[in-house]
Amino acid sequence: MSVINLSDIKLIIFDADGVLVEDGTAIPGAPEVINQLRKEKEIVVFSNNSTRHPNAVRDRLIAQNINIDQVITSSVLAADFCKKEEIQTVFVLGEHGLVDILEENDIRVKTWSEKITIDEKDLPDAVIVGMDRTATYDKFALASQCILRGSRFIATNPDKSFPTPRGLEPGAGSMIAAIAAATETDPEIILGKPNPLGYELILKKFGVNSDEALMIGDRYETDILGAIRAKIPALIVNTGVAQTRDNPGKFLEHPKVPVIETLASLLDL
Ligand SMILES: [Mg+2]
Repeated sequence: MSVINLSDIKLIIFDADGVLVEDGTAIPGAPEVINQLRKEKEIVVFSNNSTRHPNAVRDRLIAQNINIDQVITSSVLAADFCKKEEIQTVFVLGEHGLVDILEENDIRVKTWSEKITIDEKDLPDAVIVGMDRTATYDKFALASQCILRGSRFIATNPDKSFPTPRGLEPGAGSMIAAIAAATETDPEIILGKPNPLGYELILKKFGVNSDEALMIGDRYETDILGAIRAKIPALIVNTGVAQTRDNPGKFLEHPKVPVIETLASLLDL
């Protein structure tokens, strides 16, 4: 633990689910710890979940007394990627959180009810695939048809499952796998964690160097791996997914990452 000195850190990046909230309810201690930390640090939440608008994520956290101003989701990364790549029209297999952000960024979202003519000249520039709890067979079919005819295949986040009060259910990664199987094509990019892209965007937005930031997450293969790739120090908090694992700080061949038992232990660093 001694490798991280909190006084050197200007920006703390938090995962949301399993770290600050569980099933939408604050994890005990999270509101107090955030209030304490934000006196001296910048705080941002970085979530792979594309289904809610960042403002909606922020409002839900604030409703739990977790006072967060800045939220980045994989849908923000999707809009950013489209702008950089000059992608102007998209077909979305995803929910409102993703569609709304794209439209706010002047990217035209074709919906399946528009009955896209599968004709080369009407093809969307890209198909963006995220978690979609409203998905129908038609939506999967249209997404596949567009990709087979030449639309680019872009994915929001790799999380195969999604924790719910009923247990694990299909997440974005499962939707991506279905489209990849149907088209025999892998997405050209998966934007969310562990892709370092989001971390780099956050560092730039806050104007801090990687060694002045700290990532706190519960899932090694997304939260922590992405931070390592972006050269940002990282900690695992032993709640959420981490709590279900025998060795939450170790994953494959990567070096062991420090584990703290609760968020409150952060204040002791
Ligand atoms: Mg999490």
